[in-house]
Amino acid sequence: MKSTEIQQLLNEYPLVKSLIKLEEIFWFNPCNTTFKEGLSFVGLDADDVRDAEARLKRFASYLCKAFPETKATNGIIESEVVAIPAMQKTLKQYYGVDITGKILLKKDSHLPISGSIKARGGIYEVLAHAEKLVLQAGLLSENDDYSKLFSEKFRQFFSQYSIAVGSTGNLGLSIGIISAKLGFNVSVHMSADAREWKKQKLRSHGIKVVEHQQDYGIAVAHGRKEAESDPNCFFIDDENSRTLFLGYSVAGGRVKAQFEQMNIVVDEDHPLFVYLPCGVGGGPGGVAFGLKLAFGDHVHCIFAEPTHSPCMLLGVYTGLHDKISVQDIGIDNVTAADGLAVGRASGFVGRAMERLLDGFYTINDQEMYNLLGLLNRDEGIQLEPSALVGMAGPARVSSNLDYLNNKHLSVEKMKQATHLVWATGGGMVPDDEMTKYLAIAKI
Ligand SMILES: *Cc1c(COP(=O)(O)O)cnc(C)c1O
Repeated sequence: MKSTEIQQLLNEYPLVKSLIKLEEIFWFNPCNTTFKEGLSFVGLDADDVRDAEARLKRFASYLCKAFPETKATNGIIESEVVAIPAMQKTLKQYYGVDITGKILLKKDSHLPISGSIKARGGIYEVLAHAEKLVLQAGLLSENDDYSKLFSEKFRQFFSQYSIAVGSTGNLGLSIGIISAKLGFNVSVHMSADAREWKKQKLRSHGIKVVEHQQDYGIAVAHGRKEAESDPNCFFIDDENSRTLFLGYSVAGGRVKAQFEQMNIVVDEDHPLFVYLPCGVGGGPGGVAFGLKLAFGDHVHCIFAEPTHSPCMLLGVYTGLHDKISVQDIGIDNVTAADGLAVGRASGFVGRAMERLLDGFYTINDQEMYNLLGLLNRDEGIQLEPSALVGMAGPARVSSNLDYLNNKHLSVEKMKQATHLVWATGGGMVPDDEMTKYLAIAKI
């Protein structure tokens, strides 16, 4: 971007200055509309999500066999929702804010197979692709028992095909593990910020890992290029994929069912706030879409990003979406939150979802580590840094009277609110890595 263009941007969008200064900010989205109005801009609907849910059900018998750790949930990849009362008390003291209502944690960090939110979208897209291939080849019909796929015959069949993906770590882990299990050849293009243990884990599964010295956008570009030269290679496009998005969106209906079991009410007088860590946007975007379908206007979705990688906030706030990167305004995109180290947001997700999101905020790396340490101390739950960015949400919302007034969220309603912090990763972090994370926390 030219300096004149940046000057113009600063004049028109004053918060860009705070982003450049790496300040923690909270921006409430003025184009937030009702669910009914916003839905038509998504380009997907409840039927698409039902279709994804049905596909995952068809694959459940396969997953049970191929990944015995999914037996407990009958082959459905789902995580627990847990209360974190001790952490809630600590957060009130830490931020000096009265957080009323109840804080819950959605433990996608402990999803089976790959221990992060990517076990939703990433695995779903590989399954959808595999299904398409076997249906086309006439080797399987939708009414068959999909556990048949767990066999040498099908592994042989899939070995004719390959899959490529670019990732900061967790998407590569998810797609690599499921693809290799099915029998695909898979290459994972990892950005510079990807952790060494994630690459090693992939290699131990016999997966080709291509290391890049640049950031996520470049890793994705290399994956895309590799797939273009080979008609049997399928590229999983984290920046634009509707299929990934739908894999994530299934979470909405699942949370609704979990809440019903837990007797948690969400309605006009019992608002639900959900705090979602955002990288390129597919994960939080898809989950938010599913939550909106499940809870309508009673759910308030808020995206959280590192101060060094606020790509979605920047794209939506300026209306430039994927036409601007954080590097364009001089931000380095270097953060301990490797899952969120993305400089340019998905244009698809920003445009599809901007009307359905209440707001965005940024948080600095040290605060993520502090929250990581506090959650470990108070609840014995261990997450990776990316997964902590949502933990600042309840205090940010509870202290923002402008926002609460604007949304007619009275003190009474806030006393009955549910705050759901989406913990997106960390279940597979090796002990020595976790020890290093904990050592950085100042608590
Ligand atoms: C990928 C990831 C996210 C964000 O998902 P996007 O689709 O990139 O926005 C959040 N947390 C963790 C741990 C992740 O790996």
